[in-house]
Amino acid sequence: SVPLSFFGGIGGASRAGILVKGGNYLEVLADTEIVVFDKTGTLTKGVFNVTAIHPGECSEERLLELAALAESYSDHPISRSLREAYGREIDAGRVTDVEEIAGHGVRAEVDGIPVAVGNDKLMERVGVEWHPCHRVGTTVHVASEGRYLGHIVISDEVKEDAVQAISALKAMGVRKTVMLTGDTRAVGEDVAARLGLDEVHTQLLPAGKVERVEALLKEKTGRGKLAFVGDGINDAPVLSRADLGIAMGGLGSDAAIEAADIVLMDDKPSKIAAAIRISKQTLRIVR
Ligand code: ADP
Ligand code: MG
Repeated sequence: SVPLSFFGGIGGASRAGILVKGGNYLEVLADTEIVVFDKTGTLTKGVFNVTAIHPGECSEERLLELAALAESYSDHPISRSLREAYGREIDAGRVTDVEEIAGHGVRAEVDGIPVAVGNDKLMERVGVEWHPCHRVGTTVHVASEGRYLGHIVISDEVKEDAVQAISALKAMGVRKTVMLTGDTRAVGEDVAARLGLDEVHTQLLPAGKVERVEALLKEKTGRGKLAFVGDGINDAPVLSRADLGIAMGGLGSDAAIEAADIVLMDDKPSKIAAAIRISKQTLRIVR
């Protein structure tokens, strides 16, 4: 049975915007040794601004239109940002045969013409040679019918409280902080350095994130626990693989909120240290 004061701990957490789905998770939280983060939408805002448009065979406007249309059905932060940058009403009736490929991008038919919008891996997959981009940022390539049309460079910002969130975890006794991302090495290492993370692994597909978490689970010591924090876009499998799955409740997908043990209602990574503090206080009363 769950000791009565656990309800106090859960109540205190919920008043702080931290939804804990059961008393047992308070015990796991108190022993958090390794915290693994997803990047986009978790440590960064997940709101990308277009910083450059480099069309090859078409106009800038056309490149952005094709990208925004092909992305019309996706929930990925990149898709939302491209639609926002396009700024016009999107007639989703022009878009058919949509296929979203996790860690790659999307393929769709726009006005009956096949279009691929995504990263290097997607271009390889559709067999189109792309032009490298030397700017720091996430490069979104656009190809159609086997031809390269150009790319759009977008960039995200770290969340205001992310630096403090990482240092607070260290202060709470968390031994290791890690970031996993499907984004490029340049972008991943830049974010990790800004935040002072201990480790970063880039260019990962969803299955690669699961493998990393499995390797990190083996690095735990004593009764230490591993927490994974994500927004759930493509990372529901890792959320359930970790000892503790923590999801962002605002930007997060329904699947993530479902798969998570703890939900941060306001998407603030600093709430993880707050949750650990509450769990330790609660256990001091109980143990
Ligand atoms: P993260 O690990 O940062 O959360 P994801 O695993 O969701 O990122 O995506 C990894 C990479 O795959 C992105 O940086 C992007 O290059 C590409 N990608 C994924 N989804 C899309 C999409 N809908 N449109 C364009 N590119 C995408
Ligand atoms: Mg993600």
